[in-house]
Amino acid sequence: MNEIILLKLGELVLKGLNRRTFEEKLMSNARRRLHSYGSFQVTTKQSITYVEPQSDDCDMDGAFEAMKRVFGAVGVCRCRACAKDKEVMLTTIREFLAPQLAAAGTFKVECKRSDKAFPLNSIQLAQYLGGELDDLYPHLTADMHHPDLTVYVEVRDDAAFVHGNTEPGAGGLPVGMGGRAVSLLSGGIDSPVASWMMAKRGLCLEMVHFFSYPYTSEEAKQKVLDLAKILTPWTGRLVVHVVPFTAIQEELRRSCPEELFTILMRRFMMRISAEVARRTGAGCLVTGESLGQVASQTMEAMQCTGAVTSLPVFRPVVGMDKEEIIRISRRIDTFETSILPYEDCCTVFTPKHPKLRPTVAECEAAEEKLDVDAMVKDAADHIERIHISVE
Ligand code: ATP
Ligand code: MG
Repeated sequence: MNEIILLKLGELVLKGLNRRTFEEKLMSNARRRLHSYGSFQVTTKQSITYVEPQSDDCDMDGAFEAMKRVFGAVGVCRCRACAKDKEVMLTTIREFLAPQLAAAGTFKVECKRSDKAFPLNSIQLAQYLGGELDDLYPHLTADMHHPDLTVYVEVRDDAAFVHGNTEPGAGGLPVGMGGRAVSLLSGGIDSPVASWMMAKRGLCLEMVHFFSYPYTSEEAKQKVLDLAKILTPWTGRLVVHVVPFTAIQEELRRSCPEELFTILMRRFMMRISAEVARRTGAGCLVTGESLGQVASQTMEAMQCTGAVTSLPVFRPVVGMDKEEIIRISRRIDTFETSILPYEDCCTVFTPKHPKLRPTVAECEAAEEKLDVDAMVKDAADHIERIHISVE
C-alpha cells in the first residue's frame, strides 16, 4: 500500500459555506465508483481528496481510471508514499517518476509540509531535492514558471507523498449536487452527449427512452441501454425508463395532420417525460436538441414542445455544431455505438414535409380530439424500468 490517488477539487472549492456538502458528495460518488476495485478510504483535506487503498490487492489502475471520470475533480494523480527522510524521498522520486524525469526538459520541485516536526521546512526541502535532481539529471534545467514536470512532495503526519504532473480530471460538479433531471435518450449522437454535459453540471439523471415496438427493434432498444451503460462511469448507476410509444404514434398518425406529426409526437414525449419527472422527483428535462438541425428543432418548434410543461428544459447542445457534438461523443466513447444503424421512433412515420414554423395554437387545435391526459397516463403506467449498473 505504498501508493494513493489524489483528486484535486475544482470550482466546488469556491462554493463558500456549501463547500463541505460538495466535498461530501464528491467523496460518496468516489466511494461508490471504487467498490469494484477493492477497499479504499476516501478523505478530503484542503481541497484535495485522498483515495487510499486499504489492502494490497486493490486494483490501482482500475481505480485511477474510475477517478478520472468523477465529476468535481479537475485533476487526478497517482502518488507514492515513502518514509519521511530526504534521501528516501529522493530515491522514491527517481524510481516512481523515472519516465517523466526522462521525458522532461525542465522541472521544478514543490513541497508542502503539514508535519511541522519534520526538520526541513518546505523551501529547504524543495531546494535540497531540486539541487540533487539538477545534479543527477544533466538534461534537466530548473524552471520555476513553466516547467515540463513539477515534482510534488508532501510531508504528512504518517508518511511523505511524491507525485508528478496531475492528469486532467472530469471537471464539473459532483453528480447529485444540482438535483435530479429526466434526460430524453434516443439512440442518436446528440442525446448521450447532452446527458453527459448535464451530469457534468451536477445533475443526477433518470433516462427516458421512447420505444415503438415493432416499428423499432429490440436491437434499437439494446443500443440505448448500451449507451446508458457507457455513461455510467460518469453518471453513476442509471435507470432507463422505457416508454411504450407505439399506440400514441399510431393514434397521431390516424387523427392528426401529417405535417404536424413530428411536433405533436415530441409534445407527447415532453409530457410523458414531465410525468416521469413528477414520479421520480426530478425538476427539469434534458434533450439533445440543436437549433436548426432538423424541422422539429427550430425556435418555433421548441416553443411548441416546451409549451406542454412548466419544467425548465435544458438543451446543452443547442448552440453546438454537429462536429462539436461528435468530438465530445468520441471523447466519452458513445460515438461508435450511436452510429449503429438502428431505427429510432422519430424516424417512424416521418412526414415528407414537416412544418418548420408550427404554432402552439395549431398544435393545441390538432390535439383537441385526443384524450391527451389518458394517453400520457397510459404510457407512463406501462413504463419498463431497466437498471444499469456501473461498468
Ligand atoms: P439524437 O442524436 O440525440 O438522436 P437527433 O438529432 O436525432 O438527436 P431528434 O431525433 O429530433 O434529434 O431528437 C431530438 C431529441 O429528442 C433527442 O436528442 C432526444 O433528447 C429526444 N429524443 C428523440 N427520440 C427519442 C427517443 N426515442 N427516446 C427518448 N428521447 C428521444
Ligand atoms: Mg434521434
